[in-house]
Amino acid sequence: MIKNVNVITMNPLTQVLEHATVVIRGSRIESINGVIPDKAQIINGKDKWLIPGLIDMHVHLPTDSYFGPKLPTQAPDVAFATQDLMTPIVANGVTTVVDLNSTMETFAQKKEIDKGHVTGPRIVLAALVNGGAGAGRIANTAEEGRSLVRNAKAEGYDLIKVYSKLNVETYQAIIDESSKLGVKTIGHIPNAFQGKLDQAFVPLFGMVAHAEEFSKHSESLSVQDAQRFAKLSKENGTWLSPTLTTMDWIAKQTISIDSIAQSPNLKYVHPLFQSKWLTANNYVKNATPENKEYYPKLVQFHFELVKAFKEAGVPIVAGTDAGVSGVIAGFALHDELELLVKAGLTPREALQAATLLPAQWLGIDSQIGSAEVGKLADLVLLDENPLIDIKNTRKIAGVFINGTWWDKNKIGTMLADLAKRNAASKDKFDWKKTISRKSK
Ligand SMILES: [Zn+2]
Repeated sequence: MIKNVNVITMNPLTQVLEHATVVIRGSRIESINGVIPDKAQIINGKDKWLIPGLIDMHVHLPTDSYFGPKLPTQAPDVAFATQDLMTPIVANGVTTVVDLNSTMETFAQKKEIDKGHVTGPRIVLAALVNGGAGAGRIANTAEEGRSLVRNAKAEGYDLIKVYSKLNVETYQAIIDESSKLGVKTIGHIPNAFQGKLDQAFVPLFGMVAHAEEFSKHSESLSVQDAQRFAKLSKENGTWLSPTLTTMDWIAKQTISIDSIAQSPNLKYVHPLFQSKWLTANNYVKNATPENKEYYPKLVQFHFELVKAFKEAGVPIVAGTDAGVSGVIAGFALHDELELLVKAGLTPREALQAATLLPAQWLGIDSQIGSAEVGKLADLVLLDENPLIDIKNTRKIAGVFINGTWWDKNKIGTMLADLAKRNAASKDKFDWKKTISRKSK
C-alpha cells in the first residue's frame, strides 16, 4: 500500500489524485482511496508522484544466439543471464517492452519472467519478416508472405514486423493477411516504395517504427515533406514511434566514440556488447565527413517530423530501438521522453506516449497503461513531478512490476552487483578475442 501519494493516473489524461492511498494486492491495483487493509506493508508516498509503468515500443533483447552464425563458438562462453538483461529495464521503471525481432529464445525469456524466476517486464513479441535472401523469415512472394504471417500467429507471436527488403506485393499481402487475422503490423517502409511512398500506406499498416523511415523519402528534409508524411499517416491511421534517441546516438558516435566510452550507463551492458560497441562499431567504421554533418541534420529533421505528426493528430509513442550501439534498454526510454519533449510534446503527452497510447495500440489497455483500480500493478514511484519537468521520470523511488516492489535500495543493489560482475568478466568477453577464437 502506498500512502499519501500524488497519482498521475493518465486516464483521464489530466487527472492527478493528490494525497491518495493506493492498495496493491498480488499483481493488481485493488483500490485507490478505498478500504485500507489491516496488515498492509506501507510505503510512504509523501511528496512523491506515482505514474503508470513505462512501455518501450521498440527494443531488441539480446539472446544467446543474438550474434547468430557470426559467433558459432559462443556457447558456452556467451550465455546472457536473463535477469541481468532485465535488471536495467526494471530499474528504470520500464514494465513492458515490445521486442521487434523475437525468436524462440525470446519466448523462453518471457517464460522465465512469467514463472517468476526472473523479475522483468511484460514482453510483447514481434515476428520480423523480410525479403531478399538470408537468414530468418524471408518472403519474396505474396503467398510466402501470407503463409509466414499465418505461421507466426500460430506460433504465438503478437505482432508482425515488416522490414526493408520486402517487395511491394509481398509487403501488401503481409499487411492484408495480418489484418485478416487480427494481428497488428509495425515496421520499416520497404525500400521498394522509394518514389511511391503513398503505396506503402495500405489500410491497417499499424505503425512506422522509426522517423528515419520517413526521412529516407525526403531529399530536402523540409517542413513541407514532414507535413506530407504526417498527412499520409493520418489518413491511413498509421501511428509513429520515432525512436529519436537512436538517431541521436548514431549521430553522437559517428562524431566520436567517446560518447559511448563515457556513457555512465555502459557498465550495465554485458561486456561483450560493451566491447563490440567500442571496438567493432560500424557507425565509427563508416564515419565520413558527410555522415558527421548529415546525421545531426537528421536528428533535427526528426524533431520537425514529430511536430508535424503532432499537429496532424497522429498518435506518437515512445520507442528506443535499445540494442543499437549506445542505446541501453531501460535508461534509453528516459532519453526518448526527453527528446520527445524537446521536439514539441508536452511532458504529459510524452508520458502518455510511454503509457496509455502504446497500451491502446497493443490492445492491452484494459490491463496496463494507466494507474486505475483493477489494472495490473505496473507503477513507478517518482521523487518529483514529471509533469513539471520530464527529466523527473529518472528520479525513481521505486517500481512495482506486476505487483513486485523494487525500492530504491533494491534497485541500487541490483545495478551495482550487475556492474561489478560485468567489470570482472571484461577480459573474457573481449570482442576481438571472441572473434579470433571463432576463426580458428
Ligand atoms: Zn529495431
